[in-house]
Amino acid sequence: MASTAKTSQATCELSIVVPLYNEEANVEELYRRLTATLESLALSYELLFVDDGSRDSTFSKLLSLRTADPRVGVLRFSRNFGHHLAITAGLQNAAGRYTVLMDGDLQDRPEDIPALYAKIKEGYQCVFGIRATRHDSPFKRLSSKLFAYLMNKLVKLDVPLNSCVFRIMDRQFVDAFNQLGERHRFVTGLMSWMGFKQVGIAVVHDKRFAGQTKYPLLKMLLLALNSVTSFSFRPLQIASLVGGLTALCSVLGIVILFYRRLVLGYGVTGWTSVMVTILFLGGVQLIALGVLGEYVGRSYDEQKARPLYIIDQFYRAEDGLTDRKENHAQRIHQSALGLAS
Ligand code: UDP
Ligand code: MG
Repeated sequence: MASTAKTSQATCELSIVVPLYNEEANVEELYRRLTATLESLALSYELLFVDDGSRDSTFSKLLSLRTADPRVGVLRFSRNFGHHLAITAGLQNAAGRYTVLMDGDLQDRPEDIPALYAKIKEGYQCVFGIRATRHDSPFKRLSSKLFAYLMNKLVKLDVPLNSCVFRIMDRQFVDAFNQLGERHRFVTGLMSWMGFKQVGIAVVHDKRFAGQTKYPLLKMLLLALNSVTSFSFRPLQIASLVGGLTALCSVLGIVILFYRRLVLGYGVTGWTSVMVTILFLGGVQLIALGVLGEYVGRSYDEQKARPLYIIDQFYRAEDGLTDRKENHAQRIHQSALGLAS
């Protein structure tokens, strides 16, 4: 008889996971709007804020919220590990039957959570937001489009256009995501790869409430590179293709040279052509080596199997107000290797 995979025990109906990095100006407004929305839903919930090694007062503000409201959980990394690992830590520690994932700058509107919740109750396992409008700079919109193009065309991973991190998932989906142990991760791509019953609904994308984007040009490019190499071998295949085409060109060149020397009776003079050819071939080889190195480096990085992140402090929701300091590194390491119970 068919049966679904065993899921872990949920201790509340809804977990809201929010990664935060230097968002001191957004924390209080975010909390205010989240609680206003969730209280109107009248269900048990926890807010799990992941402080990704902020250098401003984000953490102390979160702790004040936690002191006043035990439904708030605060997890602080020992340093900045990045958006996607902060999301990962949040999902690994969320205890809800359903888990909402959203950014902490109020670009995702807490007021959209009831619509996500209502949709997943129709029997889906992941309901993701699709941004009908975007309030980002023209550059940001362009780079996002380029990114989606790369993912869909190069990697052939079907990430729906304009889909965003803002989403709700059920317990089975979150448990399945928590099985993934890779370090270089692109969360929405991985979730799309995971399968299950997913659907998108339109959500509003607001302006950032306060502060600056944490994804400047260079970080965006690195994320794109990371996503492409972690999902596909296509860059290696392109390097081989370019190598093959260049070799073909040089064979043609040799034929032409022989023809001129033997049939027409004169050879080619001048070192410019020789230099250009050598430089061109050298460049192609170096690019191919670089692409190869990217994969070897990544494979080395995964091989080391270090913990994905290190927790400095973790105040669980509903866990009393004790100043508990935990280091989950070992446990997370084990769970990444599939050893934990
Ligand atoms: N973020 C994070 N760690 C980082 C960078 C960003 O936790 O290293 C958080 C950030 O605080 C925000 C979310 O990830 O809550 C999305 O970041 P941001 O709004 O800067 O990205 P954008 O919306 O501009 O793509
Ligand atoms: Mg943002």
